[in-house]
Amino acid sequence: MTNARDQPLVGCIGGGQLARMLALAGHRLGVCVRVLDPKPDACAGLVADHVCASYDDALALPGFLHGLDALTYEFESIPVEVVEALEARIIMRPGSRSLRVCQDRLLEKEFFERVGLDVHPWRPIENEAQLGAAVGAIGTPCVLKRRRGGYDGKGQRIIEDESGALKAWEELDRAPCILEAFVPFQRELSLIGARSKNGDTAFWPLVENRHEGGILRASVAPALAVNGEVVERAHDQACVLLHELMHIGVFAIEFFELDGRLYANEAAPRVHNTGHWTIEGSHVSQFEQHLRAVLGLPLGFTEALGHCAMVNMIGQAPSLADATALEGVRAHYYAKPTRPGRKVGHLSTVQPTPADRDDALARMMILAGAGRSA
Ligand code: AMP
Repeated sequence: MTNARDQPLVGCIGGGQLARMLALAGHRLGVCVRVLDPKPDACAGLVADHVCASYDDALALPGFLHGLDALTYEFESIPVEVVEALEARIIMRPGSRSLRVCQDRLLEKEFFERVGLDVHPWRPIENEAQLGAAVGAIGTPCVLKRRRGGYDGKGQRIIEDESGALKAWEELDRAPCILEAFVPFQRELSLIGARSKNGDTAFWPLVENRHEGGILRASVAPALAVNGEVVERAHDQACVLLHELMHIGVFAIEFFELDGRLYANEAAPRVHNTGHWTIEGSHVSQFEQHLRAVLGLPLGFTEALGHCAMVNMIGQAPSLADATALEGVRAHYYAKPTRPGRKVGHLSTVQPTPADRDDALARMMILAGAGRSA
């Protein structure tokens, strides 16, 4: 794909579905996206300029960076030194501070505490003595998580009783971990927002999320029956967090809701699966918002346009004929081969009432094969 050089050009490290949706949002604004991904069939490559190389490919990097107005990333397991080196050469948004904190569960938890977000009890684990003491202090059940590299429920083990602690840690290769109390939450909620170059912030309504086997299956927004004061407090704390990280771009915080309180679980310095509903469901989608922030443009309005729901297609996708036959539902296919546990697309709806939304959600869940093994 050639790039008309009077159009803004944003680079993205990673060429998966998030980069693909970023590029699609860019098309409408006349913003070009160039992705860096070592996979020849990276799905963003069908809608964006694709440099087929890894971020540590010194030979390919100059070509990738050439002519970019700004650079961003769609995943956070990039070594922070790589991002530090890049941000010395080019406008990198978000920058290395956001990445450093969000790629390490220990730094993330410490940061949450510093900005006043509630967190459930946790302890760092680097050796057996710490593990034994932590399980004793926190009690069982509890959850052992690798500090780095875990996603979609991978890299974590539930410890049911003290005798299983060492085995769980060995299964995680004795990697540096954190041990968390198991939270018997009523709901999982996420807050998606963005911060601009000028320090302005905008948040979408809170999202309610349902997981299957550790993978996000469905999101509903706006989440209903959320206490206004609790949301306001979460916004204030998120603003402090974004300011301290000097974050520019979209950002997500996942919470557990227990008895009306929100406990911060983890954060992502990027567009997020629980924000996909914003494509149809808000004035500005998270993808457009991210491009706006990355390019130093004003943020757009984040109100929901109705009662929205999103269902992931995981490991299997209905035929295009079946998906397009579903009334009031928009289908997104990522052009990825299906594989067990892999997100290959999503379905989305915007409805006038919560009851209509629940009805559409049920139909989308059936179509996506939710509840069946995928
Ligand atoms: P995470 O990778 O931290 O987002 O965890 C993946 C999923 O595992 C979460 O969305 C929860 O459903 C579940 N989970 C993680 N940590 C806990 C916890 N401390 N207590 C209860 N469930 C958890």
